[in-house]
Order: sequence, then C-alpha cells, then structure tokens
Amino acid sequence: MPSKPGTSSLPVVRISRRGVRRLQDGHVWVYRSDIVSADGVAPGSTVGISDERGKFLGTALYSSSSQIAIRMISSHPVDDLTRLLQDRIRGAIIYRERVVRDTDAYRVIFSEADFVPGLIVDRYNDLLSIQALTQAMDAEPARAVIVAELSQRLKPAAIAERVDPRIRELEQLPARPSGLIHGEKTSTVVTMNGVRFHYEALEGQKTGSFLDQRENYAAAARFAHGEALDVFCYQGGFALHLASSCSKVTGVDSSRPSLEVADRNASLNSHEIEWVEANAFDLLRDYADAGRRYDTIVLDPPAFAKSKSNLETALRGYKELNLRALKMLRPGGILVSCCCSYHVSPAQYLDVLRISAQDVHRNLRIVENRGQAKDHPILLNIPETEYLKCIVAYVSN
Ligand code: SAH
Repeated sequence: MPSKPGTSSLPVVRISRRGVRRLQDGHVWVYRSDIVSADGVAPGSTVGISDERGKFLGTALYSSSSQIAIRMISSHPVDDLTRLLQDRIRGAIIYRERVVRDTDAYRVIFSEADFVPGLIVDRYNDLLSIQALTQAMDAEPARAVIVAELSQRLKPAAIAERVDPRIRELEQLPARPSGLIHGEKTSTVVTMNGVRFHYEALEGQKTGSFLDQRENYAAAARFAHGEALDVFCYQGGFALHLASSCSKVTGVDSSRPSLEVADRNASLNSHEIEWVEANAFDLLRDYADAGRRYDTIVLDPPAFAKSKSNLETALRGYKELNLRALKMLRPGGILVSCCCSYHVSPAQYLDVLRISAQDVHRNLRIVENRGQAKDHPILLNIPETEYLKCIVAYVSN
C-alpha cells in the first residue's frame, strides 16, 4: 500500500524557509546553506524533506559534500528507489522514441531534465556511455538497477562508465577509472543525419561527442554554401555536415587527437576536408588580417563562462570571435554562432552578436534561433537545463 505523506520511514532532512520557497517555485535543488538539520544522514541517502515545523515536502537524494545538498525526486514519499529509477528510465526512453529522429546517437537520460538527478546516459549506436555525478547515483544498489534496466530496454553490446575526476572529488567519492561495466565492445560507428562518425567509448571529451548539437548540424547544412570554416571543430561534427553543401571546408581545433579522429571521420564519409591545428583566436586574427573570405563560418567554442564571476571576460571572448568571423564573411554569407555557457542567457548572446555586427558595420538577419537537441530536454522549472544557444544568421551586406 502506498504510504501517506509524512508516514515514510526515510531519514528526514529539514530545510529553511528560503529552501521551501525554492521548492514551491518549482526548482528541485536545495543548497547546503538552506539545510536546517540532516543529523546522521548517510552520504547519498534517499531522504524525506520537511520544513522547519516538520511538514513533509517530498523525497530527495542527499549529498553530504556538494553545495547542492538536496535534489528532489518526488513530492511523495519514495520507499522503493529501485522502482522509481526503473520508471524514470522507462519514461526517458519513451520520450526519446517520440522526439529523436535521424540518428542512432542521442542522450537517453539527462539528469534532472529526466527526473533522475545525477545520471547521464548517452547512446552511441550499440554502445551506452554513462556518468554518475552524485553520491546517490554512484551508490551500488542504484548503479546495479541502472545497468540492469538499460541493458534490458536498450540491449547494448556494452556499457562504458565515463568518470569525471573533478566531480568525484567534489562529491567526496573515491577515485575510479573510466572503463567498461558491461560487455566488451569499446568502439562503433554512429550515424547522425546520414553522416557517419567513429566512436570510441573510452576516449574523447565529455561522453565522447557533442550530441546536443546534432539538430544544429542539420540546420547549418541547410543554409551553408561556398567556402566554409568550422572553428572549434573537435571531431568534425559541423564540418562533416557542411561538406555535402560547400565547395571547400576547413576545420580548426587546438587538439591534435580530435583532428585525427576528424580526419578518419572525413574518410569514412568520403569527404575531403582541410584540418588545421591552431589556437582559434590567433587563427581568426591572422586569417582576417590576411583578407581571407568565407561564405559560411561556424563558431562552437567551449564554455567561456564557467561561473557567473567570469561572465564579463567570457562575453568579451565571444564578441572577439564573432567580430572576426563577421569580418571574413562575404555578403550573403552564413554565420552559425554557438554558445554553451549556461551563464550567458539567450538574450545576452544575441546582444553579443548585435554589438559585434555593429562594430564591423554588417547587417545580420536571424535565420534560425536554436538551442540544444530535443534529447537534451529543457525543463521550464529548472533554468539550468537550458544552456545551448545556436544562432544561424545571414550577412546581408
Ligand atoms: N563543434 C564541436 C564541438 C566543439 S567543443 C562538435 O560539434 O563536435 C570545443 C572544442 O574547442 C574542443 O574540441 C577543444 O579542443 C577546442 N578548443 C578549445 N580551446 C580552443 C582554442 N583556443 N583554439 C582552438 N580550439 C580550441
């Protein structure tokens, strides 16, 4: 029988009025500074949350070390975390069946946005890559349920765990190497929008690829033409998509290993692409000074604003890139300008573009104002789930 609110057997964490207000506003995080008491609560526990007077507010996962001490998982008592995880994983898979098209590589579970805080799962054809980002998701019973449920539903040949040592340190979890946790296969080929990519489960950045840009690759390819420059190209995500509609494509990145994979990807698709290992800022300055011109330029830098405190410096960096790109675009050219810093709002990023265009006396038309692919859902009540900006703009003069 389901238990009534307040009658759960879970340990209880009490939170302040400010914490209660955040939950009432629909957010699912409570910061450590809003914890009133968490006596004897073990790291990673499933806990009941109550206000200072003891009124039950819901069930959460507790971290003893993160600044985000509480991540809500339900407004009801949850006595069976296994069942809840199974339901949430199933729900996440059903959502993807509805919204994911033209790919065998996509995010299956996106943490809070799929109501499984602390868990990321990406699918690369027959391989899965998982990341456990919190004490609760790293705990053995949870890991076993996650692996069993994913194996049963998606039947992968293998599951790899990607470890971010910095996050394990923040969560005070013992160091653990990345590695396979199910099966033996570590490499495969994925197909996005008809373009093929090599995938190595235990190499590369993040979980190995930038799946959040997948729909933007297709959008960029729709408008791209002529001579194209893909700046911050990594393993060639944009460049390979541009190759079918452009006469010449150059990809730029500072990471040689990434460019080596990019080159193998180009061969896999029988495309000729020029890869340049360089610092993008230096290269854009040199190319602009040398009077080079392009018809399509993609900018997809890493997040410059890692926190609010370096927002100003980050905005200057974004402006410099856009300014130089705009200088080099021919009239009728296409700029695909991306920003993955959550701390820069969509409005702020459009402003960066507006000011950059003004400075170099170009007129920009917004062709598409885009964000992250649909398998990285945005939850309206959790602003942090919306982070990627991708503006496709037409240079009129
Ligand atoms: N566009 C890529 C993702 C880019 S991620 C895709 O769709 O797959 C950001 C990339 O920027 C990384 O590959 C990183 O190696 C590269 N990078 C970071 N700083 C750089 C710099 N100063 N100059 C050139 N490349 C840089």
